[in-house]
This record gives sequence, C-alpha cells and structure tokens, in this order.
Amino acid sequence: MGKLVFPRAFLIAETKVDYAAMDHALLHLGVDGWASDGGTDADVLTEFAGKSCYMSFDKNLNLNLTKVGGRPNSAYIQDGIIGNKHGSVLEHSTVTFFLTNVSRVVTHELVRHRAGTAFSQTSGRYVRSNDVDMFLPKEIVAFPDAVSVFYRAMCEMEENIAELVEITGIEDMTDFGLKKRLTSAFRRIIGNGQANHLVMTANHRAWRHVIEMRTSVHAEEEIRYIMADVAGQLKERFPTIYADMTENADGEWVFAHSKV
Ligand SMILES: Cc1cc2nc3c(=O)[nH]c(=O)nc-3n(C[C@H](O)[C@H](O)[C@H](O)COP(=O)(O)OP(=O)(O)OC[C@H]3O[C@@H](n4cnc5c(N)ncnc54)[C@H](O)[C@@H]3O)c2cc1C
Repeated sequence: MGKLVFPRAFLIAETKVDYAAMDHALLHLGVDGWASDGGTDADVLTEFAGKSCYMSFDKNLNLNLTKVGGRPNSAYIQDGIIGNKHGSVLEHSTVTFFLTNVSRVVTHELVRHRAGTAFSQTSGRYVRSNDVDMFLPKEIVAFPDAVSVFYRAMCEMEENIAELVEITGIEDMTDFGLKKRLTSAFRRIIGNGQANHLVMTANHRAWRHVIEMRTSVHAEEEIRYIMADVAGQLKERFPTIYADMTENADGEWVFAHSKV
C-alpha cells in the first residue's frame, strides 16, 4: 500500500580542492605562498579561478598591477564576483543532492534547467513497485472531500497495477527484458504525482538560478518545498557564496544579486 510522503534533499557531494596541486601549479608560475582565507573548497576555487583572470596572485605576474590582495575571500566573492555579475566563475564548483520522494511533476520541471546541471532519475522502465507513494499538496488538504479523491486515485492506480501484474504473470517471469518492457508499459497508467528519486548536480551559478526560479510564489508547491530545503542547506554549507540569499515572508529564497 502506497503512503503519503514528503520530499527530502540530502547533500551527498561537492567539489574538493587538491591544495598541494594548486600550490604546485602556482609555484610553476613563480608564485610562492599564495593562500586564501576561504571557508570552503568552493570559496577557495572560486577565488583561485577569479584571480587567474587578472593574474592577481602576485604583483609580478601582471605589470599593470600596483598591489594585490587586501580583500578577504568573502568580499572577493560577494563584491568582486557576484556583485559584478561575473557568475561564470561560480561554475567551477558543483554540489550534488539526492532528492528523495519527489514526484514526477517536480522532476519534469527540474530537468528543464539545462545550463550547468546533471540529472539521474529512478527508471520507471526498470523499477517496478506495487505501491504508489505520493505528496499531498496543501491546496488539496484544505478540502477534505478532495483528499478522499486523491486517496481513491492512489488506491485505483495500485489496483490497476495489481491487475496488470496478475494478467501478465510478470512476478513469475525470468526474461528480464520482457519484465522491463512490461514495467515500462504499466507506468503509463500511473499519475505524475508518483514519488520517485533524483540525483541532481549543479554548479553554484546554476543552483542560485534554480533556487530563485523554483522557490518563487509562482512555482508549484512541492518544487518550492524541495528547493527551499536545498537553499537552506546550501546557505548553511556555503555561507559566502549564498551570503546575498535570504528567505522572505512568502517563503521565497531571493538574491540581492539576481541571475549572476
Ligand atoms: C513559475 C514557472 C512557470 C513555468 N511555466 C512553464 C510553462 O507553462 N511551460 C513551459 O514549457 N515551461 C514553463 N516553465 C519552465 C521555464 O520556461 C524554463 O524552461 C525553466 O524554468 C528553465 O529555466 P531557464 O530557461 O532559465 O533555463 P536554465 O537551463 O536554468 O538556464 C539558465 C540560464 O542560462 C541561459 N540559457 C540556458 N540555455 C540557453 C540557450 N539554449 N540559449 C541561450 N541562453 C540559454 C538563460 O539565460 C537561462 O535563463 C516555468 C518555470 C517557472 C519557474
């Protein structure tokens, strides 16, 4: 029997810096002892990439420079990179979330974000379940009779799947190819609301854009819920890169510097 579920985001991976290799590369250019006070590897890599543009690791690398340094990493990123909309520098670091119990309504909308993203979604062709888990929107909860319709739809979907399982005898099949084709056929009568899972990787420039678009009051309830979860975790883990991001009274995560 399927159940009502809430989506949840797990931060499972992020870009790491190889500090020895970074030092080695700088030494190759004659720079000894450059260091960043960035709090995360993403902060350091962003500063490194930004400084590589003007060769501002050391005064001797660019004859136009009269001084280098002087700004902490946080100011360099928020004022120098984000404030000036040099957002491409934020693309060097990525963060991966495992988004669990998200409906296909949500995943269909998320995969529209093409720039700087990567996705891997539960296969409706390979993975068969007799249960249809679902998120219940608040708009529906407000109407008890509508909740009954949702519940009935869930039960009917499961009954229909059970009938197809019975008719085809898929449980006893050993031909995995046929099982796969049948599973793929069965999913056609399951609604978009079915919960499944998605691994989503994006660079920080893309995350900022996706969060802004998908926590907007104009976005759908479930995608707002899961992207607010992502936004909160990113803000906590990367306080410098998301320093200009705040949650407003409407639950939108908004940026002082929109779409960098
Ligand atoms: C509230 C809401 C309602 C929506 N309603 C609908 C709807 O009714 N129907 C529908 O089809 N979609 C709808 N969408 C999806 C929307 O149109 C976009 O496809 C989706 O939000 C992806 O965002 P993006 O275009 O910024 O792309 P992303 O891939 O996130 O790209 C980020 C930015 O990179 C640039 N970029 C990316 N790709 C290109 C390119 N090929 N060429 C030039 N520049 C590029 C653009 O500046 C873009 O904004 C809706 C989205 C929201 C948030």
